[in-house]
Amino acid sequence: MAGELIAGLGLFKTMFDMARGLKDINDATIRNAAVIELQEHILAAQSAQATLVERVGSLEQTVASFEKWDAEKQKYELREISPNSFAYALKDAHGGEPAHLICANCYEKRTKVILQRVDLGHIACPVCGTRLQLRSPEATRQDRAITGWRGAP
Ligand SMILES: [Zn+2]
Repeated sequence: MAGELIAGLGLFKTMFDMARGLKDINDATIRNAAVIELQEHILAAQSAQATLVERVGSLEQTVASFEKWDAEKQKYELREISPNSFAYALKDAHGGEPAHLICANCYEKRTKVILQRVDLGHIACPVCGTRLQLRSPEATRQDRAITGWRGAP
């Protein structure tokens, strides 16, 4: 990126020197060749500028994405939902969002993915596949007895 910028600045220096030298050229053929060369440099400079403008736009989007994630991640806190099973939980009610957990693995990749229940005692991330036990096996067995759940453990 910096190299492109320096190359672009070098093009302007070359064009300036060429334009300054045009006044000293008396031969029309040589002057016309110099004008054509100058036009080629101008086109190259315009192309380099367009590339830089596009790159700036892309970087602005990246910065906006980082700022959005930084604000979003402040709404969550890491919790141990069962022994050695961690997920990020919504701290408080934000804008009417229901309580939910998001994947700690995806959180580290700056992505919010809500964990979904896959059976009575487990939740999973639909993106990375992380599977977490919600409660202790004993609590899960009690839930099964109470609810009559016969699905996967
Ligand atoms: Zn995930």
